[in-house]
Amino acid sequence: MPCEMCGKAYSGCRPAMIDGVKMLLCPECMKYGTALKPSSQGSIHSNKPPLPGQLPRPRAQKDVFKQMGKELVSNWSKVIQETREKKGLTREELGFRIGERTVTISKLENGDLRPADKMIEKLEKELGIKLMEEVGEISVQSARSQNAGFTLGDFIKPEEE
Ligand SMILES: [Zn+2]
Repeated sequence: MPCEMCGKAYSGCRPAMIDGVKMLLCPECMKYGTALKPSSQGSIHSNKPPLPGQLPRPRAQKDVFKQMGKELVSNWSKVIQETREKKGLTREELGFRIGERTVTISKLENGDLRPADKMIEKLEKELGIKLMEEVGEISVQSARSQNAGFTLGDFIKPEEE
C-alpha cells in the first residue's frame, strides 16, 4: 500500500493522524503525524476472526497400506461354476483335481462356502480364472508425493490396464 502522504509504494505504511486526518504513512512521513495504535483505537482495521485452527489432516499412511489388498470377486461362486461347466468338468472332477470333496465344490458354487486362500489358488490355477481382484486403490501415490515432493511416481504411471 503506498504512503498516502508522499505516494511512495511502501509495504510497511502505518496508520497515523495528521491534523485530525487518518492516513497511512511510510516511516519517513510518520514524523509529520502521530502514529496510531490499531489495537487501542480499534477503528483502523476490523479485527479479523482467528483462522479456524484445524486443517484436515492427511490420512495416516498406515491406514492407507492397511486398505491395500486383494479380495474375492463379488461373483466368485458364479465364476467357479461357469468356468467349470465351460471346461466340461463335473463337480466331482474339479474336486478331485484340486483335492477337495464334491460337497465342498457344491458349497462353493452355491456361495455357501467362502474358499480359503489355498483353495482360491488351486481353483485359479485349475480353472485358469481370477478369483481375486485388487481392492482399495487408495491414494498411496498421492500421499507419497505430497510428503516427498516429486517422486518417480509422478512420472511413471503404474498398472495401466
Ligand atoms: Zn511517505
